[in-house]
Amino acid sequence: MPLLNRQNTRESDPEWNLQRDRSGLRNPDRNLDPHAAEEILRRVVERKAPGKRTVSAEEGKRGGLMQTCANPQCRTGWMQLWRNRSGPVFEGGWSCSAACTEARVRTALSRENKGRTGTKQPYRHRIPLGLLMLEKGWITESQLRGAVTSQKQNGGRLGGWLVRQQGVSGELVTRALALQWSCPVLPTAGHDPEGLAQLVPRLFVDAFGAVPLRLAAGKVLYLGFEDRLDPVLARAIERMTGLRVECGVVADADFGAAQERALRTKYPSVELVEAVSEETLARAMGRAIEKAGPAEARLVRVHDFLWLRMLRKAEPGAGIFSETGTVEDVIGTVGG
Ligand SMILES: [Zn+2]
Repeated sequence: MPLLNRQNTRESDPEWNLQRDRSGLRNPDRNLDPHAAEEILRRVVERKAPGKRTVSAEEGKRGGLMQTCANPQCRTGWMQLWRNRSGPVFEGGWSCSAACTEARVRTALSRENKGRTGTKQPYRHRIPLGLLMLEKGWITESQLRGAVTSQKQNGGRLGGWLVRQQGVSGELVTRALALQWSCPVLPTAGHDPEGLAQLVPRLFVDAFGAVPLRLAAGKVLYLGFEDRLDPVLARAIERMTGLRVECGVVADADFGAAQERALRTKYPSVELVEAVSEETLARAMGRAIEKAGPAEARLVRVHDFLWLRMLRKAEPGAGIFSETGTVEDVIGTVGG
């Protein structure tokens, strides 16, 4: 898309600046954000053809009538007005046929997989927990030695051994974890798992030990972890929902109960797909989109999972999440 690469156009474009201001420093890789890119492209296209009645970005998201097929390789040139087909919309664009939907999913899948690194989590250098606590004078050398020995022999978390075996207070361990990750300690009081179940699929709560704790002012999601934050997951949820995600650690004593509550609650329906190749996953996801005919759908990668979320009803301003029942997920993996 050459239009997007013209630096000077971008710099002098007030709408681009608006985008930039809105995403701010929290979103340094905004150039990779397909939603932002499509928005900008749509506005540029609108300006290039004055006098022609085109849809606004908001209308486009809801599947306005004058959209053309969003697949760049589409040969039919169908416009939605002439084609009796209201859905589906994927990443802000309508597609005219099942083949075009699949082509767009394939492009999105390869975009997501390109950003993938070999390791599960980016390596982050942190002061080891035991050393940090020793430096603070919260534990003695012999307590640390005892806990490290037990951890080596039996596995488990160092903090757990410090509490159970060495009589260190759990609160101190939690404080140390928060220092280690430079994050807050999140309270679990007033935790409403039902209200938050639509934001993070159950699979991720289970597999990554991430518990959505609170949605503040409908904008900030507080995501609690036991002892290790997961910035990859947090970023994926931000891209999917448009919310800001703040991560923090939860006191050991509270985490288990909060996670259990979260796992017990009701979630939007999800289809799990184990695909042998990117190609077969694109086909399965394309089919799911065709079947659901969503008013919007998005695709993001979370570690080894590819998460497709479909919003059934168009609800202006509701974003990609809505009340349970209108959201459907497909979560896929590729290869063994
Ligand atoms: Zn098409």
